[in-house]
Amino acid sequence: MQSGYAHALDVRDWVRERVKSDEIDRYLAHGFDFIEDSFIQDTLRAHTALDKKRLRDILAKSLSIETLSPDETAALLNVHDDEEWEKMYEVAAKIKKKVYDNRIVTFAPLYTGSVCVNNCLYCGFRSDNKTIKRYLLAPEEVQRETEVLAGKIGHKRLIAVYGEHPLSDVNYIIDTLRAIYAVKIKTRNGYGQIRRVNVNAAPMDKADLCLLRKAGIGTYQVFQETYHRATYGGIHPAGTIKANYRWRLYCMHRAFEAGIDDVGIGVLFGLYDWRFEVMGLLCHARELEKRFGIGPHTVSFPRLEPALNTPYATNARYKVSDNDLKKLVTIIRLSIPYTGMIITARETAGVRDALVPLGCTQTDASSRIGIGAYSQEYSGQRAETQQFMLADTRTLDELILQFAKKGLIVSFCTAGYRCGRTGKKIMDLLRGGRERQFCKLNAILTFREWLDDFASDATREAGEHVIESECNEVKTRYPQSYATLMAYYERVKDGERDLYF
Ligand code: SAM
Ligand code: SF4
Repeated sequence: MQSGYAHALDVRDWVRERVKSDEIDRYLAHGFDFIEDSFIQDTLRAHTALDKKRLRDILAKSLSIETLSPDETAALLNVHDDEEWEKMYEVAAKIKKKVYDNRIVTFAPLYTGSVCVNNCLYCGFRSDNKTIKRYLLAPEEVQRETEVLAGKIGHKRLIAVYGEHPLSDVNYIIDTLRAIYAVKIKTRNGYGQIRRVNVNAAPMDKADLCLLRKAGIGTYQVFQETYHRATYGGIHPAGTIKANYRWRLYCMHRAFEAGIDDVGIGVLFGLYDWRFEVMGLLCHARELEKRFGIGPHTVSFPRLEPALNTPYATNARYKVSDNDLKKLVTIIRLSIPYTGMIITARETAGVRDALVPLGCTQTDASSRIGIGAYSQEYSGQRAETQQFMLADTRTLDELILQFAKKGLIVSFCTAGYRCGRTGKKIMDLLRGGRERQFCKLNAILTFREWLDDFASDATREAGEHVIESECNEVKTRYPQSYATLMAYYERVKDGERDLYF
């Protein structure tokens, strides 16, 4: 196991010192949180009847890219009529097209280790699970993983995932980020590189979050898991850091204060009633908008997946069916219309393909979540090294081929974050539908790179059709950008990399 970090620290002392109560208390309003169970339950109960005119008004508000109120979202959550649902699916798809067009961004997860001091009942890495092999990658091993991801598969963005442990504290996270960004590796026609690393790690204090920002993270992602307090308390055993609901609930407040203006929130669906959780996500997004002027850059909605020796994950009472997943994706899209939505390889290929048009904007591919799995030679999955099991193990090449056949373009664009189009700026651009143009141009350039560097013959052929039609669209819709696009495009074809608008 990687060591050398926090060696002098006793784990128990470290755990005891993690939560800083003053970094919670200052966000409370007269001792209250911005999310109260009773408020959500009362709102859901109060909005059960929705007439056609009100439905039309709510959908028009969504379509104008305005965040819905809790009353409006509750009303949508209470719709039972199939025809009305069809209408909602239709508008969700329109919003997706309006804000994000036919693009889908891809990334890969990079699991850095399986060590964790917490004991979340649903997670394969919980500290009580003695059947999991514990390992933490050294930064050099993280670099080797990155070489495969950037040099062989062709990813440009990663989500680096960390357990909560003194061995994988903020110093370790920063060292691994450095190791990832340092990789630059020769490819067929240019070079491969990870240009954006998002981080999924436990809540931190403001000082650590400042360090993370300086290390160049993309999105800081933390899922509340469940917004329902009693459920939260039941699955995060007392005495662990994660048992503190508020420490987690306010971590995005601390992130904004630390200057990280690009945050991802989420719920682990299956822990509690999905309607309640959608309301929780909405309240969280509205609170961030109200306090910081910026909502979540992304919303994630993972469903519980089986994990080795983790009965809770398979027997959970509130498992969400495929049909309810479709509904909740639709309502998130309608309620927080500007936000990015991430669907992962936890879901089957069929579910992912069906949900992308309804609002998902990002997905992973060629994912391997065993620790060190990208640089190891084995096929299939190894439960004893994974947090949970994946349902879709399609390669990036396969995924891109299937998307291309449907006219979707996979974008590897990471420009926004590097040109300062983050936080409020990106929010306003997305709301005004103006981000489309930059994104379209950058999607074409980065897709060209990927086709030339990594595509199989079949995928390349399908991809060429997509590129041709995208270039034609730029010519007619954004004629002022066409000549520059073409100039950049030719340079990319000649092997230059990382050109962007
Ligand atoms: N340890 C950090 C934390 O909990 O905040 C972050 C990493 S954790 C590895 C990432 C996410 O995986 C968790 O927030 C949780 O939502 C999800 N997860 C845990 N167990 C899962 C399971 N059995 N199935 C699906 N997702 C799971
Ligand atoms: Fe640790 Fe995160 Fe798993 Fe909980 S979900 S046991 S905090 S890795």
